[in-house]
Amino acid sequence: MASPVSTTIFHCPHALLGDGWARDCRITVDDDGMIAGIETDAQAAGATRLQGPVIPGMVNVHSHIHQRLIAGLTGYRAVGADSFWTWREQMYRAVGLLSPDELRTLATFAFMELIEGGYTVTGEFHYPHRLGGAEPVETATGLLEAADASGMALTLLPVWYRYSGFGRRAPADRQRPFVMTLDELSGLVGGLRDHVAGSSHRVGVAPHSLRAVEVSDLPELLSAIESGPVHLHISEQPAEVSECREHCGRTPIELLAEHVDLDRRWCLIHATHADDEELRVMARSDAVVGLCPTTEADLGDGLFPVRRFIDQGGRYAIGSDSNLVTDAASELRLLDWGQRLELNRRNVLCDEGEHLGRRLWTDAALAGADALDQPVGTLAVGRRADWVVLDSGHPLIEGLDADDQLDTLVLAGARDLVDQVWIAGRKQVDGGRHPGREPLAPALARLRRRLTRTA
Ligand SMILES: [Zn+2]
Repeated sequence: MASPVSTTIFHCPHALLGDGWARDCRITVDDDGMIAGIETDAQAAGATRLQGPVIPGMVNVHSHIHQRLIAGLTGYRAVGADSFWTWREQMYRAVGLLSPDELRTLATFAFMELIEGGYTVTGEFHYPHRLGGAEPVETATGLLEAADASGMALTLLPVWYRYSGFGRRAPADRQRPFVMTLDELSGLVGGLRDHVAGSSHRVGVAPHSLRAVEVSDLPELLSAIESGPVHLHISEQPAEVSECREHCGRTPIELLAEHVDLDRRWCLIHATHADDEELRVMARSDAVVGLCPTTEADLGDGLFPVRRFIDQGGRYAIGSDSNLVTDAASELRLLDWGQRLELNRRNVLCDEGEHLGRRLWTDAALAGADALDQPVGTLAVGRRADWVVLDSGHPLIEGLDADDQLDTLVLAGARDLVDQVWIAGRKQVDGGRHPGREPLAPALARLRRRLTRTA
């Protein structure tokens, strides 16, 4: 006889479900950390009480976790015109200093920071495959170990990197640790998928960009790795768009859409400089666009026209990308603020009669879940029990309606309004802090000091 599945029952005064706020929710979570039942207007008796409003965990579709090492350390203007390209040189130099063990420590700490910031799943776009001469499997499993130590659910996206520019230009010396053949990549992805089977982690793949991979190689990649998410940086920088036009007479998104079917496997990261036709192509496809507002602002990339994109039916998710900023509210806030500055309007990314916080949080979490092939994004039966509990005792939100509380998080708060974060039914953050951070703090501080002293 099969033993009965054991469950845990939670109760909260307000929860954001798929069709809006529900009161007095009783949420049943099974042993695998999945939501097995939700009752509304229910009693709290015998349940674990969650005090604040409960919202779905946010999905972080795009992270390069190693870049947390240089967060805030690229503020010195060393050349006439600092740009994405000068920042990239500083970042490459920093990566070159990390050992695989140090990457794992840094990643563990940074994943904990991201969880404190309301993210419960991260898409890790991982390209420093051969740090310190390591084998790619070693750095990749190090990231999975870091995710396990922090509680973060990961969709690991090993990067395919071959070239330094359009026309199959040879990689620069600093890019050589990122390079893999297709055979090596498919072997790595297959091995990692066996490794994560039965866990909260997934493994997809990430052809880095149309600069680093020739577009005509993509069909071969898609037939070698037939399922799972495919993420690609595209149209982030004006120089990339003009080089693409010079190389083949097309814009990057046009070029991509000519060679592959942009189905639901695809997540296009940035797409900042998409023109009207490219916006239409993406909006009509099943692909999600991954926007990284704080990193795009920091790197001076430009503004993606989100409002025009969603008006055509396009879907976006958010990412912490360089991990300069590690909380979801700040990304969502800047996403709307960018549109406000461009359009001279307010509350651009919601419709009449809607609260901005709820609309942003819901849209980004749902599209992000699809882009990472993770059963999250909303609180519903069959989805994983990933959620954020707001600090309902915080004076900014105490006693307010749930929508005003969520608007305050998105427009005026950050991690200070996050009380608890639960992933797969397990509490990872309490009182706004991840308890695993402190023991790792001295090692992180040492890495940062070493970096600045070798500058
Ligand atoms: Zn990126």
